Amino acid sequence: MRREVCFLIDGAGRILWSDASMSPVALPDSRARWEAIWSHRAQLAEISHSHPVGPLAFSREDETTMEALIQALGARPRFSVVAPEGMLVRDRDGQVARVTEEPWWTGLLRLASGMSGESGAMPWRASAP
Ligand SMILES: [Zn+2]
Repeated sequence: MRREVCFLIDGAGRILWSDASMSPVALPDSRARWEAIWSHRAQLAEISHSHPVGPLAFSREDETTMEALIQALGARPRFSVVAPEGMLVRDRDGQVARVTEEPWWTGLLRLASGMSGESGAMPWRASAP
């Protein structure tokens, strides 16, 4: 089953929290996710979510959510999207860039999102050229 999955990541690359939607194209706001973000805000370095059927881009809804989170937190974590064909990061200064060396947990994020197998990017090949 393909579905969007969200990971909260700390500065050492550890997964602090995760949740999953029931849809390959949506990750509805959830009170539990917000509470996890708030309670982990001191360690929170990155909020990542998957687009298991693409695109490798932040959606309009993602932009709105990121702005709301930045306002609420009073801080800018990194935001990232993981799609079958790669990973996109919006850094603390708001710059968006394609990631060439993906962190270890993108393999897990793809697996949890149902991306392995059918699509081009296998988890274990995620950082291969
Ligand atoms: Zn999204």
